[in-house]
Amino acid sequence: MRYALSAHGLKRLREWMRNRPLLAFDIDGTLAPIVTRPWNARVPDAVQRHLAMLAEWTSVAIVTGRAVADAQSMLAFHPRYLIGNHGADGVPGFEGAAAAFARTCRTWLDQVGAAGEAWRDLRGVTLEDKTYSLAFHFRHVRVPARVQALLEQRVARLVPRPTLMHGKRVLNLIPPGAPDKGDALQALLEHSRCDRALYVGDDASDEAVFRLRLPAVLTVRIERHRGSAADLYLRQQGEIARLVPELARMCLEPGGLGERRRQEGPGLSAKPPLNPRRRWSPGPLSVRRARFRPRRGP
Ligand SMILES: [Mg+2]
Repeated sequence: MRYALSAHGLKRLREWMRNRPLLAFDIDGTLAPIVTRPWNARVPDAVQRHLAMLAEWTSVAIVTGRAVADAQSMLAFHPRYLIGNHGADGVPGFEGAAAAFARTCRTWLDQVGAAGEAWRDLRGVTLEDKTYSLAFHFRHVRVPARVQALLEQRVARLVPRPTLMHGKRVLNLIPPGAPDKGDALQALLEHSRCDRALYVGDDASDEAVFRLRLPAVLTVRIERHRGSAADLYLRQQGEIARLVPELARMCLEPGGLGERRRQEGPGLSAKPPLNPRRRWSPGPLSVRRARFRPRRGP
């Protein structure tokens, strides 16, 4: 695992950027710093501006654990793809299955939402309904390991049994058979017709992409981690504010994507959008809507 902003890392990134790659980013802990209250998380304006430039020149994908509408409200640019729920929503080819994932989540909500459920007495635990997955947040509890163990015991009894995905003090319940971020990235690579992809993420759900170890995918992890399968790393989340502008700068170098785009004129990236339903008008950067609604306050 090499440092992405070292001479070696930048050389690899530059090579990648020459071939019109699919650029894919996670949000929380990657584009946006982790904050105490997830609904206050924000992608910095400068990062958004550079992502908007990149989206003009090549395919940009956002692949997040958030619900699509929630992620959408955080973005002030048009990514070509917006994948939510860790891959369970928005992946080309899985549209029909999404309704079944939503039904599974409603079944789970009926089970864990019943009166007398022990987790409801745990202070600082909230349950988020993301339609296609559920998430228990426990960022505010005193003994996270104990709470996590209790939640794991409870969800192991759910029918059907969920696939568990551990985030930073969040336990995600994914419907069985739902695509993960690795499945999502492979589908996007094929759909976008890009030869290569660059993927940047920060936690266990992103390892599903890192572990693919596909020659066509270069991966960057936020914070070095011994067990990670990523190719490159950034020392901390704040360095995304250096990486994204660096990628945009590479495009403007002689022979880079941005320069070629100017020479070739409009129409170069006029590929049809994945799904018109997934296009939206961005709001002003200052407008933030908190779509995240805890079902139970701390
Ligand atoms: Mg993340």
